[in-house]
Amino acid sequence: MTELITALIDGETVATGDAPIAVINPADGNLIAELPEADGATVDRAVAAARRAFDEGTWRHMAVDKRQEVLRRCADLIDGAADELADIETANTGIPRSQLRNRSIRRAADNFRFFADYIGQSVGDLYEQNPDYLTFVRREPVGVAALISPWNSPLALGSMKIASSIAFGNSCVLKPSEQAPLGISRLVALLGDAGLPEGVVNLVNGRGATTGDRLIRNPGVDVVTFTGGTPTGRVIMRTAGELLKPATVELGGKSANIIFDDTDFEQAVDGALLGIFTNNGQQCLAGSRILVQRGIADRFIEAFVARTRNIRVGDPLDPATDIGPLVSQRHMQHVLSFVPEAGSGDALLTGGRRAPQFERGCYVEPTVVLASSNDARVCQEEIFGPFAALIVFDTDEEAYRIANASRFGLVSYVWSQSIARIMEAQQRIEAGIVWCNTPMMRELRAPFGGYKDSGVGADGGAACEAFYTRQKTVTIPR
Ligand code: NAD
Repeated sequence: MTELITALIDGETVATGDAPIAVINPADGNLIAELPEADGATVDRAVAAARRAFDEGTWRHMAVDKRQEVLRRCADLIDGAADELADIETANTGIPRSQLRNRSIRRAADNFRFFADYIGQSVGDLYEQNPDYLTFVRREPVGVAALISPWNSPLALGSMKIASSIAFGNSCVLKPSEQAPLGISRLVALLGDAGLPEGVVNLVNGRGATTGDRLIRNPGVDVVTFTGGTPTGRVIMRTAGELLKPATVELGGKSANIIFDDTDFEQAVDGALLGIFTNNGQQCLAGSRILVQRGIADRFIEAFVARTRNIRVGDPLDPATDIGPLVSQRHMQHVLSFVPEAGSGDALLTGGRRAPQFERGCYVEPTVVLASSNDARVCQEEIFGPFAALIVFDTDEEAYRIANASRFGLVSYVWSQSIARIMEAQQRIEAGIVWCNTPMMRELRAPFGGYKDSGVGADGGAACEAFYTRQKTVTIPR
């Protein structure tokens, strides 16, 4: 069994805690760790360590070039441990190891490099409003950040939260998901060798309603950033609001993937497959509602379903695997609950079962449903698995109407060879990110955040600088 980490405080592993949480390998159902939950005293200790590190000021007053060096060392340490992190994360989440190795772990290191570069280029404001006075605006770190992250991409998202908060001089306490704590806990432990002053990065493990809630409420915490489900986001915003703590919440999605009839057909089919089936379909940005224009609908659906049937479901350690087991039995039941019953009006085109070749593990066949309308449950709720809902539309106007008829607004995808159509679509779609003729292309300088129930606030260079710093306006006689 893997080593247990209740908490990492001031660079030291803290093993106190109670109510162990079983951490299960979703590929075989075996227990891989028992995670003691950080109790209230441990959470308070972690926040106190972060507070002390902030107040002492070694990190926030460190010369920018030195801080950049430390952040770059964090990235190098992650790169150096990429194989180990991939092994741990695969065992804990069931996400194919090859995808973790090539995407999430690379991204985890890039997050530190990106913010190292970013802080070297920050600019300030200076106002010479009249001959007598000069006003300038300083950006100061906010203090201690509580970081709460989900299970679906622990390394990429957890590292984004750590790197973006500490780059601007803050200290932080991360509480990862209790379902997938192992990889990110190991990553935080690795950072101990990067040269960060003690107490700048701390970790507490435990459940959301106990450890997470206690963390947010601690008076030593200045800001809260959360990535996870929309219902939890509402709870967190309520708590943060009561306490007047700034919060960003990055939440769920039901992203429309619009395939117009003038698209590059092969590119669109492959892009749509990647958009929904990457990361076992467990992605906030999954293109889970595929809107296809009637002129190419039959051909598209046939190709999409045929290629879905060729997707390899299997051992997540096998490099040939496209889709591994879902994160837990409970989540698998949630995903399967969306399979339409006969007579419902929605047509199951392929999949819809536990993958029959596996006796154990949370394996689900990649599933495609042709929805009777956008009001269907498969089109309105976040399924968060390898489950695509197809909808056929006639006119461009209808596509925009369907795309926007959702309580979510995180990402949208548009496929067309007409620049005029693309430019019209990107204006009409209510979503924080519109990817045109590409499945997923993250630009870290640009904001990544949702409209509507997909969140409040965003990640990304300037967005993180605005969130993790406070502005101070200073006026002096000239
Ligand atoms: P979740 O909301 O169940 O849990 C997320 C985190 O919040 C966990 O660490 C959990 O322990 C904690 N938590 C739960 N209740 C809490 C409380 N009352 N106080 C403090 N912390 C609490 O989400 P999940 O199931 O882990 O993740 C999947 C969801 O995350 C999906 O909806 C997905 O779309 C979303 N997500 C969004 C983005 C984005 O960038 N918008 C990225 C990835 C995942």
